[in-house]
Formats: sequence, C-alpha cells, structure tokens
Amino acid sequence: MLDTLRRIVQEVNNAPDIRSALDLMAQRVRDAMGTEVCSIYLRDNDRERYVLMASEGLKREAVGRVSLGLSEGLVGQVGQREEPINLEDAFAHPKFHYLAETGEDPFHAFLGVPVMHHGEVLGVLVVQQRDARRFDQSEEAFLVTISAQLSAVIAHAHASGILFEQLETRKRQASMYDGQPGSSGAAIGIAKLLFPAADLSAVPDREAEDISAEIARLDDALVRVRKEIRDLAERAKASLGVEEQALFDVYLRMLDRHALPAEVVAKIREGHWAQGALRIVVDAHVHNFEMMDDPYLRERAADVRDLGRRVLAQLQSYNRREQEFPDHCILLGEDISAPMLMELPQERIAGIVTTRGSRNSHMAIVARAMSIPTVVGVANLPLKKLDGKELIVDGFRGRVVANATPELKHQFEELIAEEQSLLEGLEKLRDLPAETEDGVSVQLQVNTGLMTDINRSLERGAQGVGLYRSEIPFMIRDRFPSEEEQRVLYREQLQAFAPLPVTMRTLDVGGDKSLSYFPIEEDNPFLGWRGIRVTLDHPEIFIVQVRAMLKAAAGLNNLRIMLPMITNVFEAEEAQHLIHRAWLEVREENVDVEMPPVGVMIEVPATIYQARALAQRVDFLSVGTNDLTQYLLAVDRNNRQVSDLYNSFHPSVLHALLHVVEQAHAEGKPVSVCGEMAGDPASALLLMAMGFDALSMNASNLLRVKAAVRQVNMGFLRRLLNEVLAMDNGEVITAYMDLQLTKVGLGDLIRHRAPAAA
Ligand code: PEP
Ligand code: MG
Repeated sequence: MLDTLRRIVQEVNNAPDIRSALDLMAQRVRDAMGTEVCSIYLRDNDRERYVLMASEGLKREAVGRVSLGLSEGLVGQVGQREEPINLEDAFAHPKFHYLAETGEDPFHAFLGVPVMHHGEVLGVLVVQQRDARRFDQSEEAFLVTISAQLSAVIAHAHASGILFEQLETRKRQASMYDGQPGSSGAAIGIAKLLFPAADLSAVPDREAEDISAEIARLDDALVRVRKEIRDLAERAKASLGVEEQALFDVYLRMLDRHALPAEVVAKIREGHWAQGALRIVVDAHVHNFEMMDDPYLRERAADVRDLGRRVLAQLQSYNRREQEFPDHCILLGEDISAPMLMELPQERIAGIVTTRGSRNSHMAIVARAMSIPTVVGVANLPLKKLDGKELIVDGFRGRVVANATPELKHQFEELIAEEQSLLEGLEKLRDLPAETEDGVSVQLQVNTGLMTDINRSLERGAQGVGLYRSEIPFMIRDRFPSEEEQRVLYREQLQAFAPLPVTMRTLDVGGDKSLSYFPIEEDNPFLGWRGIRVTLDHPEIFIVQVRAMLKAAAGLNNLRIMLPMITNVFEAEEAQHLIHRAWLEVREENVDVEMPPVGVMIEVPATIYQARALAQRVDFLSVGTNDLTQYLLAVDRNNRQVSDLYNSFHPSVLHALLHVVEQAHAEGKPVSVCGEMAGDPASALLLMAMGFDALSMNASNLLRVKAAVRQVNMGFLRRLLNEVLAMDNGEVITAYMDLQLTKVGLGDLIRHRAPAAA
C-alpha cells in the first residue's frame, strides 16, 4: 500500500498542470482501490460551492459544470463535518442529493473524505461503487491518507487562483496570495525569483531571449560536465571494479549530443531558456524511470537526476555572473536570508516576498530597516510561475497580488502616494522631543547594523543607538573580521552618533543567524548554542570584539556594551570579567577610553525572574521582545505555521515586561526595549506607560512612534495600560488598543489602510 501511495503522490506531483494532476489523482485512486468511481469536488470560495473538478466513472461532461452548495448533498456533509462519511447505500441517506448530469444512478456505496489543508476544507474526495457495501477500514484509511498527501497540491492551485479560472462559470480575476506582513508599505514591480543553486526543481520557466546563445551555453556546460565525468572516472579507476566503471560510460553516453542534449536543444528551440529546458527534459526522464517496475531501471532515475544537477550547476555558474536586477524589482524566494538581502542592490529592490519565514525573522527585520515593503510566509505562492510577472506587494495586510485589474493597481498606486505623503508629513517632527502632551518624555533610539542605517537614523533625529547588531557585518564576510577591521566599523557607528550613546551588542550568532565560516549544526538551534553561550565558549572571539569596540570608542566614550541571550547571573559576571580584562589590556596599550557601561538583554524567560539580581550587577537592562515573546509563548519566531500564536500583546508578555521595569527601577537602573515591539506605535505607547526609559527601533518607525507619543497624555496611557493588564486574551488586547487609539485620532499611525480584495 505504501508503495502505491508513494507512486501516486509522485505522479501527481510531476503532473504538468493542476487539471492533469486532478485527473491523474482520480484515475490512480480509482485503480488503486478498485472502485468504479473516484471524483474530486473542490471548494470555490467565491461562489461558495463545491465544484466537480475531476472524475473517473461519472460523466465527463459534468466535470467543471456540476456543483453543490456548501451544505448540499453528501459532499456538503463531508465538508461541514470535516470527517469521512462511509455509506453502504448513499440513496438511503437523507442528505443524498441526486445529480442527474453526472450519471451516478447505479452507484450505491459511497465514501467521501475531506481534503484538508492547515485546518481548512479545500474539497472532498469521493469513491463510489455499484454494490451496496460498506468500505472497510483499510480502504477508508487509504483514502484519508492519500487526501492528506495530495492536499498540498490542491492548496497550491487554490491559492494561485488558477483552479477555477478556466471554468466557463467564472470570470478571470486577480490572484491574491495571503501571507504575513513582514515590512509595511506597498510596492508594485516585476518579480525576480531567487532560487537555490543546483536545484533543478527550483528552476523557473523563463523564455529564452536569444535561442542560439542559450544553445551555446548548454554546449559549453556539457563540455565541462563531460570533462568532469572523465576526470572522475580516471580518479576512480583504482578503487572501482569494471562494472562500476561502466557506469561512467553510461553517463557519458547519456550526455552524447544525440541523447539527452538533443532533447534539451529541442526544448530551447521551442523558446525555453537552457535551465528550464533542462529541467523539463530531466523531469520527464526521471518520471519515466520512476514508473518502471524493474527496480534496476527505477534506480536509473537517480542517475539522470544527478546528471541534470551537474549540467545545471555549470549553466548556473554562467548565469550567476550575469544576474541582473531590474529597477523596481520584487524579490521572490522560498527563503531569503538577511545576508543574501544585504548583498543585493538595495536601490533596485521595491519589495520582497517569501514563501517561508515570519515577520520576526531576521530577514524581515532587515527589510524593515531598509523600508522595503515585504510579505513573508506566503505558503502557496507559485514561485516559478510568477517569475518575471508584475506583482503588487501589500506589506500592510500581508498579501501579494498577481494579474491585478487596472482598477486595483490604481488603488495601490494611490495608496503608495498617500503613504509617501504621510511620511513626508512626519519629517517635521525630526527635531521635536518625544514628549507627551503633558510633558513626559521617552528616549527614542534606533536599532542599527547596516551602514545605511546611520544616515537614516540621523535624518530621523534618533537619540542614540539602543541596539547595534554587531553580527550583521560578520554575516556578510567569509571569515571573522580582524580586530582592526572591526575597530574601523565600530568607530564609524560611534563617531556618527557621538556624543549620543551607542549600545553595541556582542556577537549574537546561532538560532537563525549563521556565519558561513562558523557553522553551527543543531537539531534545535533556538534552544542551543546562541549569543553569549557561543562567545563565552570562545573568549578569543569575544575579547577581540570587545577590544575593537573599546579602541573604537577612544576619545568618544559613548560606547555601551550589551550581552545577548543571558540565562543566569554567572554568564553576566563572566562576560563582565572578560570585558574588564580587555579594558585593562587596551589601557595598557595607551588607548584613552573609559570603562563603558555594560548591560544585559532580557530575552530568556528565566531572566524575568532574575531581573533584579541582574540589575544589581550590571548598568542597564534591555528587553529583546522578539526572543522573549518566542520563548515565553514557545512559538518559533520564524515558523509561519504558528505565527498566529506569536503575539506580543499576550498577557504573559505584558506582565513580564512590567515586572522587568519594576525590578530594574527598584535597583535604580535604566531599562529599555529593543525588540520590534518598540517600533510599533500601539505597543510603544504601552511600553511608555509601563515606565520603560528608552525604546529602540528601526529608523523607519521612529517618526511614527514619535508622532503617536506627542498626541497622547500620560493619564490616558496609564488608564489604557491598567485596562489591558486586566484582560486575559492577547487578541482582545490587540483589538482594544486599536479601537482606543483610533478613537483618539491615531488611526492613521497605527493601522494601515489598503484596498480591499478585488
Ligand atoms: C530581540 O530578540 O528582541 C532582539 C532585539 O534581538 P534579535 O531580534 O536580534 O534576536
Ligand atoms: Mg534576540
């Protein structure tokens, strides 16, 4: 059974389009179960009906035409109950709805299972049989399993809007894809897919711009792969037997001009670029081999795949060199890492869309720092199909639109212009204090890491740096920067902001921040070797970094050092001891620098209850709400699947924050927030009411937060805080804050209007 399942799933996944995938599903399931009918009904959300989309056994003409209301018939029942219905005689069931057009008269036995994806019913898979009999448990289990496995294919097509668009009953519409807001703002541009190297399945369809050039590229790549294989064969001579060596000849024969390459050339002549043509040909061969019953021949699929990968790697080494980014491009990718983003031409990037990740991943944080509208976690985006197409990125609501109607595009153009004028309007606040109407002020600082952050921050009147993410410059190199290289970098930051304080966090790698030259392989990296845990194990790295910071601060004395991922007082003490040692060393080298204030980040839940003990030992505390929320709620900050649970307004997070402020102040120590919460006007106001001394955020949000602070008074904020602290539900708190702040005229600052779905 397992083998049959695997085979069906593989075949369906390899189908060229969704309609053939559905037809295949129906055929294969019917054959595997030996039933007379297998049909697939899919839910058309716009029409609120289940449409018969494929059937083996019912009348062909009915496909695409027949549909049932959401609570109509047995199909509607399966959908409503979200569980299988197994009937010996469907006709006898009160919910049975006879569909004359399908010709289902003779079929009595009925088994329907829902097609579920992420808790949503996408459709119903039905098998029927003439004889009145109950399907047995193993048949039911088989249908449930296959439905679960195939649901992703259906979800994908569903989301892309292509499922129903060819039906006569539907008019063509814009395709909307839902994700999460990663960085607010809207953008319109041409999609550019960033796909992982040497992965055939990731290669998008693109048209060949110059057919002979593509053929020449292929020829060139083939020459190199043939040489690679001959070299391999030569090296393997001594260690392999005659039989294994013969394999290399097979490889070379496959690469003969008249074999695989001839098919690829034919595809290029049809208009595909070389990489796409290669993918199509290799996929077809792999598919044919995989379908063979002979296990030896089945294994050959792996050989073809391997050859395909080798040729692709050579083709890509050529294309990488000439990779171009058009103006106003929208980057698309499964996962775009923060360092990858930093290497690209920033001025050309209008928007970013990824299928993985969530709004708290570091890429999204960097995108916000760069003010690039971003949508993350758009699970069902057909990446390859959208490459080169015009897209609208709606970073306010977390949506992506393709094939936008002219009216919708116009609405977005207006929105972009409005947003621009709102930001321009905020610029006049640059030199005004962040002070409530009744004169209470809070320090608004910035989070930095990129070189471009400096100007952006100064332009917006930041009162210093509350978090300099020192790992960012480490991430874009291919080795650890030397002490002198670090000193130069840090000096630039310190000098730009002097005499305002600059809080430099020591290297915070691990989790989702990796250095290519210092790989950390762990099953559970967010609970593993991260931040201070790494640097205390590597004092040679820590001391060099601290020495560079101290030297950079010579004569300026505006440095503060902050320690990430502290779990206990011992780590803080040990780090303080190392910092002191580094300070004595540089003083001995005649560097004129004062011992800087040292603080710790509160981001591990254990430190909430040790805030006072820590405050006794260090000079300041700063709460990293991004990690604190993730650890307190046990919700991976990068996991789209659980992103709805990631809510910094969860009462536990709010009470923890209040406790930390009280403990720090009881010791007379300042406390700030440097997580993303600080940059959101609604939460920033609550943090201010709690008594946080400083809020550190992306420069892009600073003026928005300042505008909000200047439009309220402390009486109102304290009342609001007391009200939400008495609530026990994060969602309710979010909605309540929204309502209250809108009432006092902050709607524009806290919420972003965007055109409703077309
Ligand atoms: C945090 O965790 O809130 C924080 C500021 O650090 P980072 O986002 O870099 O982990
Ligand atoms: Mg953190």
